[in-house]
Amino acid sequence: MMKETYLGVDVSPLTYEGILAEVDERISRHEPSTIIAVNPEKIMSAQRDETVKTMINEATFQIPDGVGVLLASKLKGGNIRERVTGVDMMGKLIEHAAKKGYSVFFYGAKEETVSKAVQNFEANYPELQVAGYANGYVQDENALVEQIAASGAQIIFVALGSPKQELWIKRNMPNLPNVMVYQGVGGSFDVYAG
Ligand code: UDP
Repeated sequence: MMKETYLGVDVSPLTYEGILAEVDERISRHEPSTIIAVNPEKIMSAQRDETVKTMINEATFQIPDGVGVLLASKLKGGNIRERVTGVDMMGKLIEHAAKKGYSVFFYGAKEETVSKAVQNFEANYPELQVAGYANGYVQDENALVEQIAASGAQIIFVALGSPKQELWIKRNMPNLPNVMVYQGVGGSFDVYAG
């Protein structure tokens, strides 16, 4: 996949379907995927802070969340024409997980938010395999990671806000050998709890 680069920040020129197809291929090779949403805010933050730039560019998929990225692509003769938002990518991944039988873990937000979001997903996708969930204010990170590893989760959504969620993912990926998809989703649990 050829990425497009804006002010040093990579963006994946893929639609929702393209990302799901690549994720599946990578799962079949047991290669984990990380998904990060790129918007003008993150691109500007990457100009000020090299570690943010590295964090974004290290992800497997940098989704074009935000019309600014579409405009930049159009102006530079790139191929990105469709917005891929973090919140909708999460919804598509859940639908896909329900279909394929991938087990999903939800980590982040307040207890009542994450539990309500999970309830809503279970109501919409009765076949969805929920490995578990945890609110974003738990203290013992190692215990949580052990819990996630033992849960059999293959996909995890991390909703701690940026860059906290991306740093959490980077730190804990080595201890989650069976989790194949990581998406940092910011305030998306709040959206799906509503
Ligand atoms: N959050 C959390 N633990 C923390 C800090 C934040 O679980 O230590 C949650 C917070 O409850 C909210 C989400 O992370 O649900 C942050 O959403 P926000 O919209 O601020 O993130 P953004 O999309 O702007 O990165």
